[in-house]
Amino acid sequence: MTERADRPTYRERHIDAKSVKEKKVQAVTIHGIRDIRVEEVPDPELRDPQDALVQVTHAAICGSDLWAYRGVSPREPGQRIGHEFIGVVTEIGRDVQHLRRGDLVIAPFMWSDGECRQCRAGWHTSCAQSGAWGQPGADGGQGEAVRVPFADATLVRVPATMDDAVLPALLTLADVLSTGHHGALASGVTPGDHVIVVGDGAVGLCGVLAARRLGAERVVLLGHHTERIEIARRFGAETYIGRSDSVVEEMRELTHGHGFDRVVEAVGTAQSLRTAISLAADGGTVGFVGVPHGGDGSVDLRQMFYRNVAVRGGVAPVRAYIPDLLSDVLTGELDAAAVFDHTIALDGVPRAYAKMEQREVLKALIRF
Ligand SMILES: [Zn+2]
Repeated sequence: MTERADRPTYRERHIDAKSVKEKKVQAVTIHGIRDIRVEEVPDPELRDPQDALVQVTHAAICGSDLWAYRGVSPREPGQRIGHEFIGVVTEIGRDVQHLRRGDLVIAPFMWSDGECRQCRAGWHTSCAQSGAWGQPGADGGQGEAVRVPFADATLVRVPATMDDAVLPALLTLADVLSTGHHGALASGVTPGDHVIVVGDGAVGLCGVLAARRLGAERVVLLGHHTERIEIARRFGAETYIGRSDSVVEEMRELTHGHGFDRVVEAVGTAQSLRTAISLAADGGTVGFVGVPHGGDGSVDLRQMFYRNVAVRGGVAPVRAYIPDLLSDVLTGELDAAAVFDHTIALDGVPRAYAKMEQREVLKALIRF
């Protein structure tokens, strides 16, 4: 994690790339169902005095990008996509005070102004001025450069110079690790708790690390894919594959029928949320961070009522968590980089979407 003097750092490489500026910016765009392209896009420019431009060094493809890919969350043809990136600041607007050219920064998956009541309360995703990378008119994270609104408030500066090897771990803070942390926090994990994580996507795997970090005595992960739950095991979980209809009974049996104090739901289907509620102990809490999709989303209120099971969670205000989690990532205590099982250059992105959809890849890392 120390600076290496014997070769150019990511900073030097990326600042140089920007200053040469011979070639146009390349970025990933989505044109329809399963139609992902890499093409030239307009050069990002400062539009507001609070903007900064970031030259992206690393980005990722998220499970939630696949909902756009499959057409479940429709996009306008040609829209940019991607919301997980880190990079180097190349230009700042005149009102940006806390960032400098050359700073390595982590971008949360939404921008926010940092000033309003919601932001000050730590709910940056509810900021009235917030927005998401890749929304119409905004740059997506899967591209060489991104214009960042409210740069001072949105971006988190990495205080030290990093070896390139640490950068994938930093990238997980943009979404999956911080979202896993939100799930663990929403479920109320405290030292000594018995926790089950439902879902073996990148967020569920990160939920294991987060629950451990908050002091859980026992973490069980319920998943579907052998190679993914292997990562969960490395992260400190007991792992189970849930295929049978009696999975709730089998999992509850692990706690002698008592149920789990805390449940982290990281799938997003109504079925998964119902399973999570059924796995909670009486008086327990479910923290749900799976993006809801499909079905009517209804849950069994009677079960929640008679067993005093609480459900809370939602979209993770990751901007609120990054500084705290970053300290542990920098010391090496928290390292979720193992969720990346496939590394590609920008031109490999269309194929990587297909591989993720076919479950051949858990999560793709794009190195620029
Ligand atoms: Zn705000």
